[in-house]
Amino acid sequence: MATLIIADCENNQLAPTTGSVISAAQEIGGDIDLFVSGHDTNDIVSNAQSIAGVRKVWVAEGEEYAHPLAESLTPLVVNLAPQYTHILASASTFGKNLLPRIAAVLDMAVVSDVCKIIAPHVYERYCYAGNILATVKNHSAIQVLTIRTTAFSHAEKKAPSSASTESISSDSINEQSRFMGIETHQSDRPDLTIANTVIAGGRGLGSKENFSIIETLAHKLNAAIGASRAAVDAGYAPNDWQVGQTGKVVAPKLYIAIGISGAIQHTAGMKDSQVIVAINKDADAPIFQAADYGLVADLFKVLPQFIELLAAR
Ligand SMILES: Cc1cc2nc3c(=O)[nH]c(=O)nc-3n(C[C@H](O)[C@H](O)[C@H](O)COP(=O)(O)OP(=O)(O)OC[C@H]3O[C@@H](n4cnc5c(N)ncnc54)[C@H](O)[C@@H]3O)c2cc1C
Repeated sequence: MATLIIADCENNQLAPTTGSVISAAQEIGGDIDLFVSGHDTNDIVSNAQSIAGVRKVWVAEGEEYAHPLAESLTPLVVNLAPQYTHILASASTFGKNLLPRIAAVLDMAVVSDVCKIIAPHVYERYCYAGNILATVKNHSAIQVLTIRTTAFSHAEKKAPSSASTESISSDSINEQSRFMGIETHQSDRPDLTIANTVIAGGRGLGSKENFSIIETLAHKLNAAIGASRAAVDAGYAPNDWQVGQTGKVVAPKLYIAIGISGAIQHTAGMKDSQVIVAINKDADAPIFQAADYGLVADLFKVLPQFIELLAAR
């Protein structure tokens, strides 16, 4: 058995979630190789080589890979695929974009959002917005899986490196799509997917200006900021803060949901958090069913008091 992991390479760095995908691969067993791509990949490659359990690092280097496009990466991975029994990526926007395309070209089934490895071809995954935990047996010759990274621990780093590297390229030219630009929200807050504490705001905040109270609280608690889809759609918060079924899946030690009703599409992305606190003025809001601690209150009254108390400490 051998697993190929397509690493999520952001800003010329390995995404921190790669360690969790490697842990999942270790539970499957067999050899583990990593596929990395980008422009000026030296840092990515040495980082990848230093992760325990990695046998080999395949490197797609070039300007055309500076911004990963599924159309450019798919032929490279498809060429490598016959050497592997499993192809894995994180269930991030990157993995969710790339793996279905690879699976389709290979004519294999894709199992998405795997949260437990039971056997090399049997997995647990959530479906129906997290309401059902399904056990899935996949009969495909090559198992193509996206991994819910919050469900797996991070593989340890080691030194010095021992994984070999090999460059790869493809003759096929991607004429279907090209990178035009990217709009990201620059923030000095911790990464939402790996933060210990997440403060999330919903439509209850009422406006983009009011959302700044979430930012102030997050700053005080050194927390990442999340948002419900309704808050994102209303323009209160940027898209990459969205938590939930169609946003990011998080499992911090502490998740504070403020002015969020707790629709299943939202709780699908945060219900594995260790401690959930909810603040909502409606005592019947479904978020209280997911919460360990609930405060029925007007957020505009209690948050300033909370922030004042934190400042006093
Ligand atoms: C296919 C699909 C995918 C989806 N994906 C996602 C997803 O990934 N993430 C996601 O979040 N949603 C998702 N949704 C949307 C989801 O169904 C809900 O509409 C959304 O989560 C609601 O956001 P909200 O709780 O912020 O807003 P609302 O439902 O409007 O709730 C606002 C809450 O704020 C409270 N409130 C108002 N004022 C105050 C105040 N002053 N003080 C305290 N509390 C107050 C209210 O009591 C209410 O409970 C998806 C929906 C679909 C159909």
